[in-house]
Amino acid sequence: MKILVLNSGSSSIKFKVYREENNELNEIASGIVEKIGEEISYIKYKSIKGEIRYNEIVKNHEEGLKHIINVLTDKEKGVIENLKEIVGVGHRVVHGGDKIWEPTVIDEYVEKVIEEFSRMAPLHNPANLLGIRSAKKLFSNAVHVAVFDTAFHATLPPEAYLYAIPYKYYEKYKIRRYGFHGTSHMYVSRKAAEILGKPYEELRIITCHLGNGASVAAVYKGKSIETSMGLTPLEGLVMGTRSGDIDPSIMYFLAKWENMTIDEVYELLNKKSGVYGLSEMGNDMRIIEERALKGDERAMLTLKVYVHRIQKYIGAYMAIMGGVDVIVFTAGVGEKSPITREMVLGHMADFFGIKLDPERNENPKKYNGIISTDDSRVVVMVVPTNEELVIAQETLKKVLSSRK
Ligand code: ADP
Repeated sequence: MKILVLNSGSSSIKFKVYREENNELNEIASGIVEKIGEEISYIKYKSIKGEIRYNEIVKNHEEGLKHIINVLTDKEKGVIENLKEIVGVGHRVVHGGDKIWEPTVIDEYVEKVIEEFSRMAPLHNPANLLGIRSAKKLFSNAVHVAVFDTAFHATLPPEAYLYAIPYKYYEKYKIRRYGFHGTSHMYVSRKAAEILGKPYEELRIITCHLGNGASVAAVYKGKSIETSMGLTPLEGLVMGTRSGDIDPSIMYFLAKWENMTIDEVYELLNKKSGVYGLSEMGNDMRIIEERALKGDERAMLTLKVYVHRIQKYIGAYMAIMGGVDVIVFTAGVGEKSPITREMVLGHMADFFGIKLDPERNENPKKYNGIISTDDSRVVVMVVPTNEELVIAQETLKKVLSSRK
């Protein structure tokens, strides 16, 4: 059995194919169609049989999927001969609002919910839906499953998910914290417990997902009880292009002083802020770090603001959980940036007993991901995330139960 996992963004579709063998899922192919709808798009594909790369005009998601099928069925480097081999398609969906949290087989109702909550995730849900609708057409025999980014955070208590605005707006519009990157926070926190050989249900874990989008979660005895993203992925940490936390009145003043519409301010906070807006040198943390180390003041300042925000959340979550046993770093920056990890935790030895080992921090893989010293009170780890694997596993479960 083979499972296809799709992560459809506004201008890209990322994909992975897994083969089920003895109840285990092994990745056999992956790739991306980038810059959909732009002048020229890039198709990149890698499988156990080789790589394919080409450029083509790709007008929309359906065309993008056709290219994915094209490479997946390639005579030489493809991994499927017939589309029917794909028994399940797992879709990453950002927002299910308060209506759907769990992985769910996609029917008309599910599509309606994704559409309804486009109002809270205008940058994500419409793209997710385009991917779903195209995939349902092209893989009409497969079971299609939506796995929501919010899922893992369904366990947040009201004191964590309510905002202090008139309660009636929670009732009327369901304005509350939902949290995102749930699949990643769940995967890396479980994996950390597994690597340490400790019961997941007994640990207090703080997971830092630092990618282009970034969030922190407090996982208390196996359940997410706090997370930094909110109603939308805009809240919380400083991200690639998103501001994260700001004083809400900044929206009001920017609109007034810059004569911007509320839509323009929203776009500015989502796409022109964060690392990109502060540094004015793009949103690639590799470049920011490189320049900061060479003495560029703005790059260093950006890095400091970025790190400071992460520290605030770690401190807050330690207070909420009454301590912490494990801190996990994951995603692009979290996995690959020893400097960021050192800047975040380097000074926490005295009071918190968090001690990083410099050699382990440079080479986490050599140490099973554990980058703290043996006598550190808190274990610090780097655990590569694998959201697609979780989506594939959830999809496989639904495929199997649909056959009973
Ligand atoms: P996405 O959120 O798009 O899935 P990723 O998890 O791949 O993104 O993370 C992308 C981010 O990781 C980018 O800001 C990129 O610059 C950063 N990154 C990748 N490699 C490194 C590295 N070696 N050092 C610092 N940052 C890195």
